[in-house]
Amino acid sequence: MAPVTKQYDYIVIGGGSGGSGTARRASGWYGAKTCIIDNGIPGGCCVNVGCIPKKITFNFASVNEAIEAGKHYGYKFGDSVPFDFEEFVNKRQARIKTLNGIYETNWAKEGIELIQGTATFISEHEIEVKPKDGGEAFKVTAPHISIGTGSYPTKPQGIKGSEYGITSDEFFLIKHLPKKMVFVGAGYISVELAGMMNAIGVETHMFIRGDTFLRKFDPMVQETMTKHYEELGIHVHRNHPGIKEVIQLNPGSEDGSDPREKKLKIISNDGTEMETNELLWAIGRGPEDRGLGLDKINIKRGEKGHIVVDKYQNTSVDGVYAYGDITGQAELTPVALAAGRQLANRLFGPPELKDSHLDYDRIPSVVFSHPEVGTTGLTEPQAIEKYGKENVKIYQTKFTNMYYDPFPPEEKKKQPTQMKIICQGPREEVVGLHILGKGCDEMLQGFGVAIKMGATKKDFDSCVAIHPTSAEELVTMR
Ligand SMILES: Cc1cc2nc3c(=O)[nH]c(=O)nc-3n(C[C@H](O)[C@H](O)[C@H](O)COP(=O)(O)OP(=O)(O)OC[C@H]3O[C@@H](n4cnc5c(N)ncnc54)[C@H](O)[C@@H]3O)c2cc1C
Repeated sequence: MAPVTKQYDYIVIGGGSGGSGTARRASGWYGAKTCIIDNGIPGGCCVNVGCIPKKITFNFASVNEAIEAGKHYGYKFGDSVPFDFEEFVNKRQARIKTLNGIYETNWAKEGIELIQGTATFISEHEIEVKPKDGGEAFKVTAPHISIGTGSYPTKPQGIKGSEYGITSDEFFLIKHLPKKMVFVGAGYISVELAGMMNAIGVETHMFIRGDTFLRKFDPMVQETMTKHYEELGIHVHRNHPGIKEVIQLNPGSEDGSDPREKKLKIISNDGTEMETNELLWAIGRGPEDRGLGLDKINIKRGEKGHIVVDKYQNTSVDGVYAYGDITGQAELTPVALAAGRQLANRLFGPPELKDSHLDYDRIPSVVFSHPEVGTTGLTEPQAIEKYGKENVKIYQTKFTNMYYDPFPPEEKKKQPTQMKIICQGPREEVVGLHILGKGCDEMLQGFGVAIKMGATKKDFDSCVAIHPTSAEELVTMR
């Protein structure tokens, strides 16, 4: 048994969004003796293979779309404007490296000890650490231990050759753009990454099991966005029967083709075949419990292996807490961060904060699709189920953002903006808001505050419009 080397007030496993949030609050604000044990790169998924590189790539793709739009405004660019994807990737990576450094500096400034290694439970309040540098394993203990180890992208089990496809993690390693790329999955990650690839000229295919993608979103979003992606030229294979086998056609590029170019053959369950240069599985994420030794502490797990927590982020084990993706609750960076901070408030803050917890209701979020989607609260079917059809009132509008006014009419009519306000009861409390269209990503946050405060349709209408914007429609809807 490794000797006890250190005792802390608070051990934080995972230095991602949730872990960083909780550790900084505990140590920086309340002076708890805190360590973060992390076996990855500071910042976790969001900084390294999630939100940040994704949004930078979205911006890169948006520049290309703006160049295309510029032609309709009278800018003269010639047929196409070349770009250097590798240069872009290097710049994106440099920014991420800077952010990694900022995380480490902030932790150090706030008195948090960073332990780089893998944490494994050996008992309820003892953790064994295997250092990343190969050094000797040691033990740490604390009365409070929190788990924020996140999630990992999965590949399908039982499909021959599935290992030849990549996941979102490896998406961010691509330096040489494939000519053609297949995305499997109908969730927001698939929709975002496919949209970006299409916007920069990659022949893009999406295999989805149902008739629409973004199936957890309001039907307006599902239907409009799936159709719009088709109009953008993305090949959406609706009701796809699933993949049977993936064959690598140029192992090692011995056939004389560009060695950077992958060539795969996809055989589907209905016998159809397709060749592609890349295949990305976006079929869901699993709770990151690998190497964590959860079996040693008999902690309650959900159906898919997520750690079960109550509203205070307590697990079934006293003194052990969890937040973020490992709990499977609204898998978003600000959710993990806020849950972690509230937990630290409760554990180490003043007595008036002893009831601190995150309210998971009406969390706004954005899909960085083309165009963007913003959503908060209930979808129309959820509102009807919760309140009854007779108590739900829907306000809805669709129009074209004036940005597209100079576009040729047939192009212009393909650019959707749609908004739906879902109200409940005689006061018409707004319980859901769904918007899609250019600029919706930056539009939602303020409305999110109002809706969280319990705003009614009358409150929306009492706010004077800002003209000319798309957002003004939200306060003028009849
Ligand atoms: C492609 C993509 C795009 C996304 N875009 C967005 C977005 O636009 N907006 C948004 O809000 N969210 C987005 N997300 C989701 C967001 O990144 C996650 O919800 C968030 O990072 C989860 O934070 P976390 O603290 O739970 O875990 P993470 O941030 O993943 O951190 C977990 C950390 O724990 C470490 N770890 C794991 N096991 C151990 C162990 N045994 N010992 C020590 N360390 C360990 C890992 O190395 C990692 O550093 C995106 C995710 C993906 C994949």
